[in-house]
Amino acid sequence: MRSILSFFLTLFVLSSSDKRQQVDFIIHHAVVYTVDSSFTIAEAFAVNKGTIVAVGKNDDILNKYQAKETIDAKGKPVYPGFIDAHAHFVGYGKSLFEVDLFGCNSFDEVIERVKKFAAEHPNENWITGRGWDQNKFPGKIFPTNEKLNQLLPNKPVLLSRVDGHAAIANVKALEIANIKPGQTITGGEIETKNGKLTGILIDNAVGLVESKIPAPAKEDYTKWLIAAQQNCFAQGLTTITDCGLSYQDVDMIYALQKEGKLQMRLYIMLSDDKENYNRFLQRGPYKTDKLFVHGFKVYADGALGSRGACLLQPYNDKPGWYGFLLSNKSHFDSIAALLINTDFQMCTHAIGDSANREILNVYNKYLKGKNDKRWRIEHAQVINQSDFDLFGKASVVPSVQPTHATSDMYWAGERLGAQRLKAAYAYKQLLQQNGWIPLGTDFPVEDISPFKTFLAAVFRLDTKGYPANGFQMENALSREEAIRGITIWAAKADFLENETGSIEVGKKADFVIIDKDLMKVGEKDVLNTKVIATYSNGKKVYGR
Ligand SMILES: [Zn+2]
Repeated sequence: MRSILSFFLTLFVLSSSDKRQQVDFIIHHAVVYTVDSSFTIAEAFAVNKGTIVAVGKNDDILNKYQAKETIDAKGKPVYPGFIDAHAHFVGYGKSLFEVDLFGCNSFDEVIERVKKFAAEHPNENWITGRGWDQNKFPGKIFPTNEKLNQLLPNKPVLLSRVDGHAAIANVKALEIANIKPGQTITGGEIETKNGKLTGILIDNAVGLVESKIPAPAKEDYTKWLIAAQQNCFAQGLTTITDCGLSYQDVDMIYALQKEGKLQMRLYIMLSDDKENYNRFLQRGPYKTDKLFVHGFKVYADGALGSRGACLLQPYNDKPGWYGFLLSNKSHFDSIAALLINTDFQMCTHAIGDSANREILNVYNKYLKGKNDKRWRIEHAQVINQSDFDLFGKASVVPSVQPTHATSDMYWAGERLGAQRLKAAYAYKQLLQQNGWIPLGTDFPVEDISPFKTFLAAVFRLDTKGYPANGFQMENALSREEAIRGITIWAAKADFLENETGSIEVGKKADFVIIDKDLMKVGEKDVLNTKVIATYSNGKKVYGR
């Protein structure tokens, strides 16, 4: 009798365990910041076939689901995979194989690094580099190319400024591009002093040389993108918005994803180029599991650091100089007229208050009030106080990069003067326009780290902890807002909020386990936060 009873009991337990739903894995005993609409905190969730199937309390999940693998997070915080709403993924990958000029404190240091790189890479036909910033050089003035010409008289050299909106070329590169002293260009500047080219090229002028650099081969893309992806996964990033690619870049990304070499989820804005419109407008947005081509990136103006940002009043540190728009005003209008009847987002780089006003007016003209087209202004850096409401009126998305504020704060006041500075990097004020704001880094202009974004957004501090009380704290975001900015709001800016950006049933299992809780960590410890593991589509793509 006893044995029969235990037999039935065993059978009962077995059959009830059989009733537990089979899933691929469960994460439990975690502090799960779901970043759903109520910012709910859960303890566990179950994942099957790359998708989140349940989120809840430890007991509920463990009793209801039977997993091949159960992962005890040991009380660690879990967040949705981080999303960068504005970056240059291909450009960053490329920069990892060029001369690294970030942090150079003089042009002599630039020359030294170029010299070392050229000696180590004798077979490169072009020497390219990125990252110099004259604001870090003695005197803060643009360099000239004499020393570069002496160093490499026969090999073309093109070195981009940190913001990518200016470059210095040596004589060989200028010759190849057939650039002559005194030459002019719309939306750019070719610097000539005493009848001689200095090598400094601003905005559209950079393209004259850039277009002469031979197109990269598939092997180049492979090494660039895989290196970029490794670094991004290690920082907990699972989706990157790449702003301004050619259709050739997109073809390469597609091929590498198809081969399984590239697993990063990518949202692509195509560059404002006839060929791109020809290829994509007819067939519409393009979507695969990890690729979404859904925007066009237009440039209204340049950058503040190289005084290419277009301002309503002259620069504070260059009398009579307003900066400039990169195209005729009619161009912005014609692109808006073209895209308004498509599903593509118009995403326009605008830094100066004049450029922002111009684009806000064009957007308002075509969007005609509240809408869900999610047309974006990239950077939205300097806004005239009377123009903020133009974002809200036409539901225009300000796509901002908090680390720009803490990088530029050292000299932005010199460019803008105290009064205009107050309406610059005004993230809280921009957030209030639509009730949400996506955050990014613009890497490689800034570092890829979402933790640096969090520090700059919430505490308005740079990596040195400067300034002690934070920069223009009235525009700081709350922790919750910053977390939303690097997850669900970034996803929304990319029209990807139904598949990523939060830990909710039905979404892709893109998440990150970290060792410190961003909702509680002290400001001094934000940058000490370590990523324990990163998952994309339920697959572990980084883990220590
Ligand atoms: Zn950018």
